[in-house]
Amino acid sequence: MSDLADLYQQVILDHNKRPRNRGRLPTANRVAHGDNPTCGDQCNVYLRLDGDRIAEISFDGSGCAISQASASLMTTQLKGRTAAEAAKLYESFHHIVTTGQAPDEISDLAAFAGVHAFPARIKCATLGWHAALNALKGDAAAATTETHND
Ligand code: ZN
Repeated sequence: MSDLADLYQQVILDHNKRPRNRGRLPTANRVAHGDNPTCGDQCNVYLRLDGDRIAEISFDGSGCAISQASASLMTTQLKGRTAAEAAKLYESFHHIVTTGQAPDEISDLAAFAGVHAFPARIKCATLGWHAALNALKGDAAAATTETHND
């Protein structure tokens, strides 16, 4: 189990060091901002929706390692997904970070299972996901003013 824990830790460290899809997306047709004042994390998520599918996704922002690594991983998980698939993935992720129980299949999302032991950090881990789901739901103008903290 400790080898597995190390592996998961590596996933988080790696995404923090080399964030994927980081930066403003010039072609975005949806954008949403997430704010986690308890930790000081900020996250913008940019989407280019093609019909119901996320054709492109990126994020930028600043904050703790958990928030930034989670947002980076989120973009790799959501690219190419439909809104319904994205909502389902978030459900799995939320289950992992609140219970520490990972699904049977090994997934990078399980890297965040350890977060459940630190309830204050759950908001850090879910921040990027909330911004992405808000971007999927709303139009750009409405989504940019939305803030979700948990
Ligand atoms: Zn944080």
